[in-house]
Amino acid sequence: MVDERRAFVLGRRLLRESDLGVTLLLDDGSAHEAWAPAGMASQRRFAAGLSTQVLFRVGLREHRRGLRLEHCLVEQAWPGLLSSLHRQSAAAVLTGAALELTPHAGAGAHGFLLLGDGYQRLAVTNAPSASAAVLARLVFELLADGGHALSLDRCARCHTPAPEDRRVTVEPAAGGVRCRRCGGGPYVLLARDRAALRAVLAGDESAWRPELLSIVSHLLVAAAPTTSATLGRLGPLLGGA
Ligand SMILES: [Zn+2]
Repeated sequence: MVDERRAFVLGRRLLRESDLGVTLLLDDGSAHEAWAPAGMASQRRFAAGLSTQVLFRVGLREHRRGLRLEHCLVEQAWPGLLSSLHRQSAAAVLTGAALELTPHAGAGAHGFLLLGDGYQRLAVTNAPSASAAVLARLVFELLADGGHALSLDRCARCHTPAPEDRRVTVEPAAGGVRCRRCGGGPYVLLARDRAALRAVLAGDESAWRPELLSIVSHLLVAAAPTTSATLGRLGPLLGGA
């Protein structure tokens, strides 16, 4: 029986001959490995070359070799993502972050909705700084979905609110701000940077400042459970953001 689902492709690789291996994010928020027989060759069965940053309707079948992709149709594409380098880079980093951070089960649909919403927003950003701000907010949300939320307004351990006007220390791997009584953290965050970052994460793209790029990069790489090669490339990819 063929199971019809909506899905994003998070990653793809060439297998034997012209078969393609793909990592799919399904509409229930779970990630799965699947294989597309002759996926490199058949544009008729596999529309848009099974590329990333496209919403597909896919037909899946359980097979002795694993989950087999029978066909796919494009449900939605975002051509605006390809029209500038900063949009393209931000969308690539978002896809990579989803690949690294999406759990293989029990994720809930939020991650799937977030990715579609993210491509939609990035497809219309008008400057590198806007792409960077949108990307930072989305990746923080993906991180929270994966159980690695970063608290920036209060101590992640004792929940004491952090004073607005003072610098704080952060322990990204332990959930965010760590107050002095709880031992502090290795990463210093200045009051003005923390205020700007919190505004960006609350949806105010105009609060973005170029110095936030390396801060966000450092926090995410330290917080993420993987080696995070993708997140580490955040800075260089967005260039002058
Ligand atoms: Zn504390």
